[in-house]
Amino acid sequence: MSRFVGHGRHEVTDLSELVSVEEHLDAILGLLAPPEPIELRLADALGLVLADDTTSEVSVPAFANAAMDGYAVIARDIRRADADEPVSLGVDGEVAAGVQDLPTIRPGRCVRIMTGAPMPPGADAVVPVEVTSSRGADVRIYRAVGAGEHVRGPGEDLRPGQALLSKGRRLAPADLGVLAAAGVSRVRCIPPPRVVVISSGDELVPADKEPLPGQIRDVNGPMLAAMVRAAGAVPFSAGIVRDDRKALRYVLDTSLGHADLIVCTGGASAGTRDLLPEVIGQLGEVATAKVAMKPGMPQIRGRIAGCPIIGLPGNPVSAFVSFEVFVRPVIRSLQGRRDVQRPVVRARAAEPLKAPRGKRAFLRVRLTRDQQGWLATPTGHQGSHVVSSIARADGLAVLGEEVEDVAEGQDIDVQLLVE
Ligand code: AMP
Ligand code: MG
Repeated sequence: MSRFVGHGRHEVTDLSELVSVEEHLDAILGLLAPPEPIELRLADALGLVLADDTTSEVSVPAFANAAMDGYAVIARDIRRADADEPVSLGVDGEVAAGVQDLPTIRPGRCVRIMTGAPMPPGADAVVPVEVTSSRGADVRIYRAVGAGEHVRGPGEDLRPGQALLSKGRRLAPADLGVLAAAGVSRVRCIPPPRVVVISSGDELVPADKEPLPGQIRDVNGPMLAAMVRAAGAVPFSAGIVRDDRKALRYVLDTSLGHADLIVCTGGASAGTRDLLPEVIGQLGEVATAKVAMKPGMPQIRGRIAGCPIIGLPGNPVSAFVSFEVFVRPVIRSLQGRRDVQRPVVRARAAEPLKAPRGKRAFLRVRLTRDQQGWLATPTGHQGSHVVSSIARADGLAVLGEEVEDVAEGQDIDVQLLVE
């Protein structure tokens, strides 16, 4: 068997020239500096990774308060109360949540109290309103309560010195609630990375323009900016750049001030117009790689003035798949996240599948469920220019480098495209 495999316009590639997906991804991850935390208000921190361990400095609740609407009483006064022999107490007004001026409760007296209101001095329990009946200035109580019953004690929720949330935790809505309860109004966390997206190619026009003969609409620009946003980062669309050294240098140069990562598509392969590696190399460091994957073989990585750059092939399907394989994990790492990879499910192939030897294949599949589990069906034409095949996909079937044929019904791994 030949060691040479065809790749359409890439003619033939010697399998020994290829690097693995992991090697290329590790090399890109090696270009990243550790992300710098910033201090944010709680309202801006949802979904971000916490940079510090946080501790409560206060007690929550800060004071004893009523757990129910009812009457604040001295428990001893009503220890004999029951349905047949209710106990009557005189009512000295009422205490609502937020009230600061509190009456002192004397034996034989009580006060009407609302949930969350501070316990008045002297009272040690709350009788729920449901077991009472009001008689003018008095209240009849039909059930005894023990000392402390229906009272929320200070520090029951949080105590001073208690650990709240650990460094590295991704903040969920309830975490923001806990921080607010403890009076922590600002936290240091890893901000969403800013990602500049550039489409390069003389043939490209924006989607709102009528292409002239030979021109095509820029698919990658809007698609990758959306993938950046979906990954939790902030996209900046630099638009379309011609295959021209000066134009490429200019867009890279002017992107650096507001980029934590630059993603460029097109110009990554071996065409005479593929100038990107040369231009990145003039401004910083660059490496090109033929990665053992299909689609998405020609890849570029580089760094200019500390800013990592990833160059993806221009075919929209190749760009989409290589974004999933390389860019998304990089964005997740820049967010300080540990869950950088998509979840994978096992599924049965709904039809026979073919894959190139020596390369990892990523096939666009739709997932359905039956009694036996997940079933993966290819979304049609798998050519790297067929955009509609990605829009229909729920996942990428990942077939290992050694796999050439998958039989119908055989189990395969599918990397989910949804959270
Ligand atoms: P390249 O990587 O520049 O050699 O481009 C490979 C193929 O992808 C060519 O057919 C290009 O016309 C196409 N292509 C490149 N960039 C884009 C883009 N932004 N949107 C749609 N197709 C593109
Ligand atoms: Mg091109």
